[in-house]
Amino acid sequence: MPERPFQAFRWKTMKKTSSPFIIVKRSKIHGTGVFAAKFIPEDTRIIEYVGDKVTKKESERRGQLCFEDSLNNKELGAVYMFILNKRYDIDGNVPYNTAKYINHSCGKNCYTDVIKGKIWIIAERDIEAGEELSYNYSYDLDNYEDHPCRCGSEDCVGYIVSEEQWANLKRRLKRAAKSSKATENEA
Ligand SMILES: [Zn+2]
Repeated sequence: MPERPFQAFRWKTMKKTSSPFIIVKRSKIHGTGVFAAKFIPEDTRIIEYVGDKVTKKESERRGQLCFEDSLNNKELGAVYMFILNKRYDIDGNVPYNTAKYINHSCGKNCYTDVIKGKIWIIAERDIEAGEELSYNYSYDLDNYEDHPCRCGSEDCVGYIVSEEQWANLKRRLKRAAKSSKATENEA
C-alpha cells in the first residue's frame, strides 16, 4: 500500500459511511458483502462511494503500487479506484468507505452514477430485503485473466469485465479454447 501517514491520521476521526438501506455481513460471493436491510425501490440512491479524491497521476501511481502488491499477495490486488471525472479519481480503499464492500456480480442489481460530483450506488431494480447488493465493476477486457469471477449468477461470464465487453470476451474465450484444443491434439 502507498505511504499515506496524513490520511491514516485523518481516517481515525472519520466515521464509516452508512445508509438505512444496508447491512454489512459475510458474503457467499466473496469476503464481506453489503445486503439490503429492507425493500429498496428501483432508482434509490443507496449509498455514496467515498474515498480520497486524487489526480489521474496520483491514481496511476497508487494503481501501480497496488498492482505490485498483488504480485505478492492476491488479496491485495483488489481495485478500488473509481473514475470521478476527466481530472480526478476516487480511491475508495479507505476504512470509512462502506460501499467498497459491495461485490461485483454479472447478475447485478445496482449500478453506479456520478451525480453532482458524488459517486452513488443506485438500485437498478426493486431489491428485496436480504438480497446481496452488487454492481458490475466494469473492468477493461485487457488482462481479464487476472480478474476471474465467481459471482455464482446464472449470467456469469467467468471474468469481471464491463458488460459492453462481454461479446468480445466470449469471442476471446472461444478462440483460447480452440487453440488449447489444437495444442492438445498436437501433443
Ligand atoms: Zn460473474
